[in-house]
Amino acid sequence: MINTFRVFATCDIGPALDVLRERGYQLEVYPEPKAPPKSLILEKLSSGIDGLITTLRDQIDAEVFEAGKGTLKVVAQYAVGFDNINRADANRFKVPFTNTADVLTEATAEFAFFILGSLARRLWPAEHLTRENHWGFWHPYLPFLGDEVTGKTMAIIGTGRIGLAMIKKCAGFDMNILCYDPAYRNDKFIGAIQETMDLRHARGIQKAKTWIKYVSFQDALRDADFVSVHVPLIRDGESSTPTFHLFNEHTLLLMKPTAFLVNTSRGPVIDEAALARALRENWIAGAALDVYEKEPLAADSPLRDPAIEDRCRLLPHFASAAKITRLSADPDKGMAGRCVQGLIDVLESNYGGDVKKMPYVVNKEGF
Ligand code: NAD
Repeated sequence: MINTFRVFATCDIGPALDVLRERGYQLEVYPEPKAPPKSLILEKLSSGIDGLITTLRDQIDAEVFEAGKGTLKVVAQYAVGFDNINRADANRFKVPFTNTADVLTEATAEFAFFILGSLARRLWPAEHLTRENHWGFWHPYLPFLGDEVTGKTMAIIGTGRIGLAMIKKCAGFDMNILCYDPAYRNDKFIGAIQETMDLRHARGIQKAKTWIKYVSFQDALRDADFVSVHVPLIRDGESSTPTFHLFNEHTLLLMKPTAFLVNTSRGPVIDEAALARALRENWIAGAALDVYEKEPLAADSPLRDPAIEDRCRLLPHFASAAKITRLSADPDKGMAGRCVQGLIDVLESNYGGDVKKMPYVVNKEGF
């Protein structure tokens, strides 16, 4: 089939874009690695673009939809998170937007688990010791020790796709698991995990009996050795369960001084000034972060304080950054494939043109 749709991609998402070229789409890809200025997106839309491929770096709001009025038919977001897209504005302008849920779930969860392990077992300072030639002797406890992960208690904040995938990883490490989610409970999944825990214990695969349960946010923070955050960024007023600054001075103080916090969700879920204080004043033992209130992380961020360097791992929004996850053109495997397919579904009126039936469209309620 030959199409004449015009598509502007604000970023090169790799070879999956060939799928559009092969279908005859007129595709323009912003060539720079950095995000284009908003003025360029507006200019492109004003020139009559049918489909826009975006990343979390692009602010998609009323101004953008206004510029695309009459021609813009879909925004295809290359991410599962879509806090950069104003959903109410998309609905007002009747523009469906898609995301790339599911295909990055396991990659993100395993990354969260890996940075948790790296933090707890102090891999970063330990490697520095070796590289900088300060490894003078083997000793039972000098120069420092880490904390075991196996058998500890994990709190999962947000039991959506990635939270549940993280639970699977934690169950494999014989952890007890506290779950908190005010909007969605998956009791069937939690029950199945408990059954596998019981079976592993009964068959002698794990020594201790372990458990998993839903609890309040306060109880999750109070009782956990590790807290891993898997919520979307929801600002005040956007829903009854906002997540903006869910972690602040008040809630960080609820955590044990020996506990570790891991965030692979969105930066503004944590008040970074409060977290830096919590680390400096030893309210908690450490934090591993992949996302920040402002990205890239500012040169003068308090999280860069050398005094907390040993206990604060800083990663560059990297959790989904694995080859197949990012680039596969297969919509069942890669973000690029799923992003392209979401765009095609809308532009080519798949599913009988019924937006509500299109699996990757997010704002179905707008139609
Ligand atoms: P999801 O929608 O499946 O799950 C999110 C869960 O959070 C839902 O169950 C929801 O009910 C719950 N939730 C909402 N408000 C809450 C609150 N106040 N407290 C606790 N839980 C709350 O989403 P997902 O696919 O699991 O992804 C989660 C988020 O992870 C995305 O929105 C995205 O921002 C982030 N993410 C980051 C990376 C990365 O590269 N670092 C990669 C993928 C996803």
